[in-house]
Amino acid sequence: MKPDEVIRQRMCLGCGLCLGPETHGNSMQCDEDGFLVPRFDGRRESPGFESICPGLTQNSGRWSGHPVWGGVRDCLIAYASDPVVRFRGSSGGAVSAIAIHAIESGLVDAVLHVGHQPGDPLKNELFISNSAGDVSLRASSRYAPAVTFPPWFWALKETGKRYLYIGKPCDIGAIRNLQRLDDRWSKTIPLTVAIFCAGMPSMKATSTLIEKLGLGSVPASVRYRGEGWPGRFRAIGAGGEEVSADYSESWGSTLNQFLHPRCHICPDGIGIQADVAAGDPWDSSSGYPDFAERPGLTLLLPRTGSGEDLVKSALLAGVLVLERRLAIGEVDKMQPYQRDRRGRIAYRLIGRASAGYAIPRFRNFRLIQAAREIGAVSGFRQAFGTWLRLRGRRILGQLRSRFWWR
Ligand SMILES: Cc1cc2nc3c(=O)[nH]c(=O)nc-3n(C[C@H](O)[C@H](O)[C@H](O)COP(=O)(O)OP(=O)(O)OC[C@H]3O[C@@H](n4cnc5c(N)ncnc54)[C@H](O)[C@@H]3O)c2cc1C
Ligand code: SF4
Ligand code: SF4
Repeated sequence: MKPDEVIRQRMCLGCGLCLGPETHGNSMQCDEDGFLVPRFDGRRESPGFESICPGLTQNSGRWSGHPVWGGVRDCLIAYASDPVVRFRGSSGGAVSAIAIHAIESGLVDAVLHVGHQPGDPLKNELFISNSAGDVSLRASSRYAPAVTFPPWFWALKETGKRYLYIGKPCDIGAIRNLQRLDDRWSKTIPLTVAIFCAGMPSMKATSTLIEKLGLGSVPASVRYRGEGWPGRFRAIGAGGEEVSADYSESWGSTLNQFLHPRCHICPDGIGIQADVAAGDPWDSSSGYPDFAERPGLTLLLPRTGSGEDLVKSALLAGVLVLERRLAIGEVDKMQPYQRDRRGRIAYRLIGRASAGYAIPRFRNFRLIQAAREIGAVSGFRQAFGTWLRLRGRRILGQLRSRFWWR
């Protein structure tokens, strides 16, 4: 399959990996729905495209561990001991604290992670952070598309330096795809941290929210979360005027209405392929999170030996504070959406195939086993809902192209 077909099949996550090292006029652009897609005006896609494209290929390697939560060597709730890092982080700033520790202890030379472009808070891309200050500056979630593999990324494997890569689970899937093809990537990126991910909202999501909140100018600054837990969405205009919304209103009512279609069939929103995965340990005595503001905490799941060593060493160094260890079963209550979602994917793939769309290559995610957990009635609803949404979209597209000029 070629990138054009991946885009047509609504599987392109806009990561930028297929542009390759020499773009020759190719670039990432925004499509009509507000998602990034590659435009091939020059040379064609990068070599080995089908094996590395994360929209098309995800492979967890050999499945081991818990049937829902995957391989876990430990399960803990922690936070950054530095109050600034904790405050700036989406959850407890633990991801940033681990990354800072990896640089300062010499485990890696720098950290690769997403931030917004200087001067444009709506454009997100990968950066190299060399210091604690840089890492902390780019802490917190950006609920929007991001170019996670810009063309300069390819040159990193020739530098002889080592990096820790922080990304969404599909970004870590892309790293694993590269490492399977070329071992130099394993030396270049010896450590990966995935943030839990329920889906990537489009750029339209942010602009709709800003409009809803009544900011009358182009934003000079946009923060989605952090500065508290879960923290407010905040947009500041050029003249200093500010609008904000709490997490339920921002993510719960607006941003999550604009998720990428590929995210609805994502086999790994919980960082199964990473060395360490991180999410929100939502307090959920009622069975569902209440999202009340409080000091930040991060749920950490070290998944590999190197991930476990990294977290242990950050705890020993005191950059990470342990709130408590927990049994993996407790995560069910903290992340009910992620728990249920794994069971839905196989059914959604059936709905997708019935609607005439291609199925990505998902290997070793135990999706059929997970599907047994949700039952046939609920599964059928998932399959039918997916079919309806995709058929509806296709019919709408056909009507639009038919009557566009009349
Ligand atoms: C699109 C999206 C969906 C999410 N869905 C969930 C969910 O369902 N459940 C849940 O528990 N948590 C979710 N999160 C993650 C969560 O918000 C926290 O990032 C995580 O709990 C770690 O918190 P922290 O304070 O330790 O991380 P921080 O110290 O704040 O570090 C966060 C890191 O994430 C990186 N990052 C931010 N945005 C992006 C992006 N768009 N793409 C790649 N990397 C990025 C930053 O560069 C930073 O290094 C989501 C985040 C995003 C961006
Ligand atoms: S490599 Fe990334 S940008 Fe290219 S088609 Fe695949 S998901 Fe899209
Ligand atoms: S839901 Fe899955 S595919 Fe979508 S952005 Fe998150 S990790 Fe990637």
